Amino acid sequence: MTKIVDHIRNAGDKTIFSIEVIPPIKGDNLKNLLDNIEPLIEFKPPFIDVTYHREEYIERPEPDGTIRKIVTRKRPGTVGICSAIMHRFGVDPVPHVLCGGFTKEETEDFLIDLQYLGIDNVLVLRGDPAKPFKDFKPKENGHAYASELVEQVCSMNQGVYLHEGETALSPTDFCIGVAAYPEKHFEALDHDTDFKYLKLKIDKGADYIVTQMFFDNSKYFDFVRRCREAGIHVPIIPGLKPLSTRKQLEVLPRIFHLQMPEDLIKAVQACENDQQARQVGIEWCIQQSRELMAAGAPVLHYYTMGKSDNIVKIAREVF
Ligand code: FAD
Repeated sequence: MTKIVDHIRNAGDKTIFSIEVIPPIKGDNLKNLLDNIEPLIEFKPPFIDVTYHREEYIERPEPDGTIRKIVTRKRPGTVGICSAIMHRFGVDPVPHVLCGGFTKEETEDFLIDLQYLGIDNVLVLRGDPAKPFKDFKPKENGHAYASELVEQVCSMNQGVYLHEGETALSPTDFCIGVAAYPEKHFEALDHDTDFKYLKLKIDKGADYIVTQMFFDNSKYFDFVRRCREAGIHVPIIPGLKPLSTRKQLEVLPRIFHLQMPEDLIKAVQACENDQQARQVGIEWCIQQSRELMAAGAPVLHYYTMGKSDNIVKIAREVF
């Protein structure tokens, strides 16, 4: 497998196309996901990210009137999907690895499984709070921040496992990506604090950054400039999502803590239905992509959210 940073190096001045997919809801068919990836292979993504979804706590009414508390995982299968992507498309998968819901030992075992599968790229994340809770709480003996998880992966890369000391004959060799937020992570006090902790992830050994989605390229350009000023010199991959329904004008800013540009708001408000809004989203994303590509973005990384028809239309215009 090729490391993401090597894919970027090998591409030279050319911007790479890549995507993120999410596992299907439990009980759904993997075929739908693979069928949605298939038409995008034409644009030669060297890697595909697969999200990880932690457990959720739900309450289920029982026939006797009591409420049963259940811990369930709605979208399992990240590692299996990574394996399917490798075998079906010959593309390097990038599984997301979370602090949330894992002890350090479970993380170590998870990473060993990835190593055995020949997967050498990971996107390391803290994860959000387990639903329905508001605050993120690490599992006992788990990591509280992504920087700690970066440190664990780097230790394994040096052959140092948790309880075995420096005896590993086969150190792992992971290329490590981390997340960042051009419009600030919602919990951070201010941009400076957020930058301090992003720098910590890089200083601990992360190799590249993938950003949260944004709809205003100036946010990305400012972010890259500030990273460089702060001494962060790793590749910064912009994450892009084409808006696809009218409702997303309200939903995306609320969930992802971002601002929609006025022009996009006006264009979507003028739409009579979601089909028109989807078209506006495609056109907006094409403009964003072209400008980012012209500015030398190393990769354009599209959040597919399980559907690919709009990404195909964008990629046809841009790549
Ligand atoms: P961190 O880098 O740990 O930062 C979290 C917060 O803590 C920030 O506010 C930061 O400023 C602060 N902080 C960091 N270190 C410290 C410290 N040492 N002391 C005090 N404060 C600190 N979620 C999923 O559940 N599954 C996914 O697959 C997934 N994929 C994602 C992919 C991308 C590209 C992005 C941008 C996000 C993704 N997320 C995913 C969401 C992510 O898990 C959340 O945004 C989460 O709230 C933060 O994760 P992080 O890795 O950025 O956290």
